[in-house]
Amino acid sequence: MDRLNSVVDAIGNTPLIRLKRASEITGCEIYGKAEFMNPGQSVKDRAALAIIRAAEAEDLLQPGGIIVEGTAGNTGIGLALVANALGYRTVIVIPETQSEEKKAALRLLGVELVEVPAVPYKDPNNYVKLSGRLAQHLAETHAQGAIWANQFDNVANREAHVVTTAEEIWTQTGGQIDGFICAVGTGGTLAGTAMGLKRRSGHIKIGLADPRGAALYSWYTSGEMKSEGSSVTEGIGQGRITANLEGFTPDFSYRIGDEEALPILFDLIKDEGLCLGGSSGINIAGAIRMARELGPGHTIVTILCDIGARYQSKLYNPAFLRAKDLPVPAWLEHRANFNV
Ligand code: PMP
Repeated sequence: MDRLNSVVDAIGNTPLIRLKRASEITGCEIYGKAEFMNPGQSVKDRAALAIIRAAEAEDLLQPGGIIVEGTAGNTGIGLALVANALGYRTVIVIPETQSEEKKAALRLLGVELVEVPAVPYKDPNNYVKLSGRLAQHLAETHAQGAIWANQFDNVANREAHVVTTAEEIWTQTGGQIDGFICAVGTGGTLAGTAMGLKRRSGHIKIGLADPRGAALYSWYTSGEMKSEGSSVTEGIGQGRITANLEGFTPDFSYRIGDEEALPILFDLIKDEGLCLGGSSGINIAGAIRMARELGPGHTIVTILCDIGARYQSKLYNPAFLRAKDLPVPAWLEHRANFNV
């Protein structure tokens, strides 16, 4: 193992883990990029670091400066740990519906946390828009200045995945890769990794795994920005073309329901020792669908976005699942830490 100067240097270079059952049932080789092994335990550490480095390069951040962001949690955790290591402060606006585990992690990291009601993007009080206004206010009033990370429309996010995630996957597979698929929050991971991989080989197919409640499946398949249903997954589900998605089109699109994604996550805990968050379930379900479409013998990579411990009170809580009419494996009743 390398000896590193700071936690910032531990971001990225995550392993690819073969997903045994997904591979066996499709006759393909399906790998998950273990982004939960980043220091902030999610894929968003990459975007957080890239956004802060881009702001520094433009001289927008002074020591003690504030980084403001609207986030479902993981970007905030990434920003906070990088900010703590580099001497900045963080103010995070989060929809109150996000998991308590993520909010607790943010508080522990010293984030100033602003919880707001979850309202649609078109509402001026949406968490993203609020965070933009708050950043502007702090930039004008705080002596050391403030920046808005703006992960949805700041393409430093996507660029992080062009330069790191895609290159790592290309090297780790030795170029033997036929498909890449994942879900979209900001679109940084999907569009950035897709752009990087397509630059390496035009033959690699790209898939979108869209949860219910998101509109991109409908957009890419029928040109209509329309959503249907809802999902208990967090951090994904987009209803507009963010700057990070501009110029990107998937080769395959799938709409995936929670009832398809969650049993995959439950089996991964029991049989493969992988405890993941909800978006990883949507991603793996998408990889399985894409494998079936491409046929046996192909290699497909997806993203294992974050760690399951972040959702013990929700995805891995039988009472929560029952309240949402979602399947509860019998063994979970005995293992769950939460039963509220
Ligand atoms: N999964 C989780 C758990 C996330 O927090 C996020 C980011 N919000 C994503 C997936 C999606 O990543 P991206 O923003 O790069 O589209």
